[in-house]
Amino acid sequence: MNSDRAAGATPAMAQWFQAKADYPDALIFFRMGDFYELFFEDAEAASAALDIALTARGTHQGEPIAMCGVPVSQRDTYLTRLIRRGFRVAVAEQVEAPEAAKARGGKALIERAVVRLITPGTITEEALLDQGRASLLLALVPRAGRIGAAWLDVSTASFETADLAGGELAALLGRLDPAEILSGADIELGAHEGRRTDPGPPPAAELARRDLARLFDVASLDAFGAFTDQEAQAAAVALRYVERSQAGTLPRIARPVRAGETGLMAMDAATRASLDLLRTADGGEAGSLFGAVRRTVTAAGARMLAGWIAAPLDAIGPLRARQAGWQSLLDAPGTLAALRTSLRGAPDLARALARLGLAGRKAGRLSPRDLGQVRDSLAAARAVAEGLAPAVAADPAHPLAGDLAKLAAGPDLGPLLEAALVETPPARIGDAPAIRAGFDGELDGERRLRDDTRQVIAALQTELASRYGVASLKVRHHSQLGYVLEAPAAAVEALRAFPELILRQGLASAARFTHPELSDLDRRIAEAHERAAAREALVLDHLLAAVMREEAALAECAAALARLDALQSAATLAESGRWCAPELSEDAAFSIIAGRHPVVEAALPAGTRFIANDADLSPERRLMLLTGPNMAGKSTFLRQNALVIILAQAGLPVPAEQARIGLVDRLFSRVGAADDLAAGRSTFMVEMIETASILNQAGPRSFVIIDEIGRGTGTQDGLAIAQAVLEALHGSIRCRSIFATHFHDLVQLGAALPRLRPCTMRVKSWRGSVVFLHEVIEGAAERSWGVHVAKLAGLPEPVIRRAEALLRAAERGGGEAGALPLFAAAGEDPAPPAELPAADGWHAALAEADPDQLSPRAALELIYAWRRKF
Ligand code: ADP
Repeated sequence: MNSDRAAGATPAMAQWFQAKADYPDALIFFRMGDFYELFFEDAEAASAALDIALTARGTHQGEPIAMCGVPVSQRDTYLTRLIRRGFRVAVAEQVEAPEAAKARGGKALIERAVVRLITPGTITEEALLDQGRASLLLALVPRAGRIGAAWLDVSTASFETADLAGGELAALLGRLDPAEILSGADIELGAHEGRRTDPGPPPAAELARRDLARLFDVASLDAFGAFTDQEAQAAAVALRYVERSQAGTLPRIARPVRAGETGLMAMDAATRASLDLLRTADGGEAGSLFGAVRRTVTAAGARMLAGWIAAPLDAIGPLRARQAGWQSLLDAPGTLAALRTSLRGAPDLARALARLGLAGRKAGRLSPRDLGQVRDSLAAARAVAEGLAPAVAADPAHPLAGDLAKLAAGPDLGPLLEAALVETPPARIGDAPAIRAGFDGELDGERRLRDDTRQVIAALQTELASRYGVASLKVRHHSQLGYVLEAPAAAVEALRAFPELILRQGLASAARFTHPELSDLDRRIAEAHERAAAREALVLDHLLAAVMREEAALAECAAALARLDALQSAATLAESGRWCAPELSEDAAFSIIAGRHPVVEAALPAGTRFIANDADLSPERRLMLLTGPNMAGKSTFLRQNALVIILAQAGLPVPAEQARIGLVDRLFSRVGAADDLAAGRSTFMVEMIETASILNQAGPRSFVIIDEIGRGTGTQDGLAIAQAVLEALHGSIRCRSIFATHFHDLVQLGAALPRLRPCTMRVKSWRGSVVFLHEVIEGAAERSWGVHVAKLAGLPEPVIRRAEALLRAAERGGGEAGALPLFAAAGEDPAPPAELPAADGWHAALAEADPDQLSPRAALELIYAWRRKF
């Protein structure tokens, strides 16, 4: 801290400066009574971000201190808005009661301490979390050309690591979509740049390993797997950061699991970006694949389903298990509906458990509501188990047998929590009673005493009123005097006659007296309240301990509930009859009957039907060359096949009548990607970089969909590159692929490449307009509808005619195999068609004019020149 800056501060402001020095990159929420106040630059930033008034409070070093405040009751609302905007917030609470400070002497300052640093990746608070989305913190540590990665979800305690080659980072970022990334500036984060937090230098590898071993209570980290140095370092960085965010208390975190990429289908960042898996480019779930297939009824189920879609598997065993799981729900009548009903409204057990784990390590953090959520989750688990039992329990090999077994977690815990907790326990201890009457005899006794004191006051009031003959005499509590008797001003004189009554305050309308019988009341009532509260806290702690004893089983139960919801979602989708279970194999099969694009289908206007299409990429015809005009449905077809693969390898049903899929090890999709210009690179450059990455990585088990390669360059170049890429896919890579192109001439390659199958989008003309049938058929486009579309778009008639003439000429000359450059220059047009206007030179001039080279001025002059000829 810059000590000059704090010089001369008032005691409270000195506390603020200390907090700011400890958490320099966070806004300090400084508790002052019923408000969190923000000062100086924090106040300026927060008032702008939250749109609240900026005021001033006193002065510091001669300048007014900028200030704004947030009522304590609205803490979560404001915190959410600040965190979403990328701020980090350190919450400094009053850590002693004002009375305690007062007891130390008149001017003593209330003690304050930062109890929590809230950052996007370390949120555990229910109100701040995004329900259906994981909230990941990712730490990255570079070392010797590789990157150690460790990511954890504090809200559910999961913890994974991986050791990456530099080039694999983008794919990991795409898959995890972390809320916050701990990394130094030497690692490029691309589109995730805004989520970086620099945690400072990582601990040395040996220290990191020792820290981790101690934390997880094992002799050596090797107990959990062969972690590389950089993985261990990244794991330590992540944990230290979380510990700091909880002001020194580490929440329960599951032991680290090495993720590696094995068992997963590989997808790079560009592929993800082109497919809108979990969210569309604008960030919404609507319009994404996830949005189209999600039928989950709980937040935890939604997170699990999103995890499956974001990380498709390349391992047939687990996929068949998922398929068998949701198919079994369809086989037993009534089970699916019952499961849905029991799951609906089940609380988020994993997240409640993570918060309780934290409360177990830190006094004052226990929320009775979280205990209530455990109780309600167990009730839901019981209901789910009862619904499944008839179909599942009889068969130990049933696909859901494992899940069913996990639902029976903590058999005694449910009844205990039910007997102990009130229906709706409060979020904070003390806000309302949390423990039922009748559960704990001692608590009931303390409460009776506390409530009796109220009756004692009432009785005393009646008695004193009659003793002194003043019917309107009231016993009141006064903040400084304690319990007093309040009498109307008219009765004062009469009351003064009694020596035990001492007048303490005379007001115009009323007077207040102290009375020996009342002096003691204050203490007795306060004590009764305290004892009842202390007893309730004790009972709650006892419940918390009971929950934490079952923590591991409860975590498994939470996972089983989430998985059952994801399976239920899949079965619900399949129940409609329009989605099927794909037949998976380990060969290179690929055959889809009547496949659809779920998102495009859903977006079609009412009354429009989606045209289903087959795709057959069996080994002897694994390379599909797709031609057809724009708007005919090429990209839709390409994407729908990629999406079918992702769903199939997520273990989910696919939108088709029938599907046979040999597992794909790497999926590449380049559809529409060339439309977005990356910073500073030309479209063509981006396109070539992406094509290079495909050709360098794809293998015989991969699947590639490419749309319109080579369109970012001149025709000759583009055509040549497209042909070379096709040949590579066909010859050396031998993967399954669909290649869409507007270079119709490439169709001729079919003669030389036996596994290449030319297909086209069916189009017909009807009363002079083009009708797209959205149907994929074998063969080449019979003519270029592009010219037709140009006409519809309003290109001048002469231009259209000339284009048609060139096209016909090209088609006539296109017979010789391998002759790809087919466009004759205008002057060499062998036979200008009869219907062209007389060749008086103007249309030749038009042909010679190169529109791309003409300035607007020159174009205008040309038009004037031609006008003069008519
Ligand atoms: P292209 O890539 O050939 O330019 P798109 O795939 O973008 O064409 O499709 C254009 C539009 O046609 C889509 O937005 C959609 O509305 C419609 N469409 C595409 N495929 C189908 C289909 N199979 N059935 C019905 N409509 C379709």
